Amino acid sequence: MTKFSDLKLDPKVLQAVAEAGYETPTPIQAGAIPPALEGRDVLGIAQTGTGKTASFTLPMITLLGRGRARARMPRSLVLAPTRELAAQVAENFDVYSKHTKLTKALLIGGVSFGEQDKLIDRGVDVLIATPGRLLDHFERGKLLLTGVQIMVVDEADRMLDMGFIPDIERIFSLTPFTRQTLFYSATMAPEIERITNAFLHNPARIEVARQATTSETIEQRLIEIVPTRKDQSAKQKRELLRAVIEAEGAACTNAIIFCNRKTEVDILAKSLKAHGLNAAPIHGDLEQSQRTKTLDGFRDGSLRFLVASDVAARGLDIPAVSHVFNFDVPSHAEDYVHRIGRTGRAGRKGVAVTLATPADKKYLDAIEHLVKTELPRVDAPEGFTLSEAAQRPPRKDDDKVKPRGRDRDRGRDDRRSRPVKPHGEEAPLEPVKPAAAAPAAPAPTPVEDAPKQDRPARRDDRGEDRRDDRGEDRKSERKPERRRDEDRRDRGGRDAPVVGMGDHVPDFLLRGFSPDTDTADS
Ligand code: AMP
Repeated sequence: MTKFSDLKLDPKVLQAVAEAGYETPTPIQAGAIPPALEGRDVLGIAQTGTGKTASFTLPMITLLGRGRARARMPRSLVLAPTRELAAQVAENFDVYSKHTKLTKALLIGGVSFGEQDKLIDRGVDVLIATPGRLLDHFERGKLLLTGVQIMVVDEADRMLDMGFIPDIERIFSLTPFTRQTLFYSATMAPEIERITNAFLHNPARIEVARQATTSETIEQRLIEIVPTRKDQSAKQKRELLRAVIEAEGAACTNAIIFCNRKTEVDILAKSLKAHGLNAAPIHGDLEQSQRTKTLDGFRDGSLRFLVASDVAARGLDIPAVSHVFNFDVPSHAEDYVHRIGRTGRAGRKGVAVTLATPADKKYLDAIEHLVKTELPRVDAPEGFTLSEAAQRPPRKDDDKVKPRGRDRDRGRDDRRSRPVKPHGEEAPLEPVKPAAAAPAAPAPTPVEDAPKQDRPARRDDRGEDRRDDRGEDRKSERKPERRRDEDRRDRGGRDAPVVGMGDHVPDFLLRGFSPDTDTADS
């Protein structure tokens, strides 16, 4: 087996690697580092979690060891599709270069241009950036890319998804023809193949196995619930989720809870918090500072529940979690694999619980087809009962936090609940019947957390409001003419979306007129 010491890395890099606790290179590292150190182009076909960041950072640091940075002319460039990924690369860079004198700058939205300009003016060895922000700096005349000796494109398939390929091509054309290129993508779509043929010279191609579709170490469960009212489906699922979390108890040390829509992410996080659970949301519409704070909290263990959209969570190096909850069944089957792959990592045990309603059948079938197994059905935790409030029509003031004290207590008394099949029983999916004399719900519901109806909504074939779903997440990140880069929203400059409306442009104003333009699959 290859050892790091066999890889001809700078001793200072080897020392940092040893201090990081890594013993052996991962397959992508063993495959990519030798040709990269020889100055060859590399085409790495690898996903997050394979150690790909170190596979380009370690040789870069070694190669840049000699030479000095010149003002406004970075010697190397790493492009990442999102701020979080760029920040993650920068963190990796800090860890592995800590015994060197190399300098870096991180160019992402949400950070003032002034600070970034100062760093660039001084001269940096490594520039880590999102494409849009990099081009902004370039266009402001603050940056020259003619000194770039090594260029890395990370997560090229996501760049493609988000509409950045024209930006990438432009950036390639601004760097010297003689540069070395290290190019990474999880998949090789035809468009990615085209780019690599155009810009890479005889690359060493290293492909590492995809993550096993669904790891052996992940215990998967599916809990089916038949909402007694369609308009209270989300509320009933929230109650079920809390019951599942409670039933898991201390075994659930931390969890990522996935929702399909950004509004649902917000509502669920708010609801969990109101019920005393330590939860915070993450999705593309939140301020960068808040996203960073939330992720840091989740990484350091001070935040127990991260409520996330697929797009926000994808690619992020989030430590292994004990549980993944699919509050919504993902409408793209591959997302199921990505989501549950967040748990059961590195040989540890993990639990993935998916909540499903009958409307999810189509998506569930696709998932089971993809993972080639039937997800084990389990029942709701023993004693789980839906509250009375979750079974009556949503009230206008349902999204308001109820006053504490007397009124709140009265709410609790009023709440009659009904039992649901106990955990562990193999039972077919059937509507939950209201119980005649059910026990009081264990926990009060201080927040009546039905979604706000402040915008026109579209309904999908699950009868759900889709105005803010994954499609919108995707759309906002993908449409180059609208929001080419998440960080472009913050410029307030030429690409500011709609003057006077900030980030809160009602969705219907941005929506196309074709009936298909706003679906999750668009
Ligand atoms: P990445 O695929 O770059 O996102 O890396 C995934 C995770 O693997 C990161 O948390 C790295 O710190 C970790 N890692 C990278 N290389 C190694 C290695 N050789 N041995 C163990 N862990 C590693």
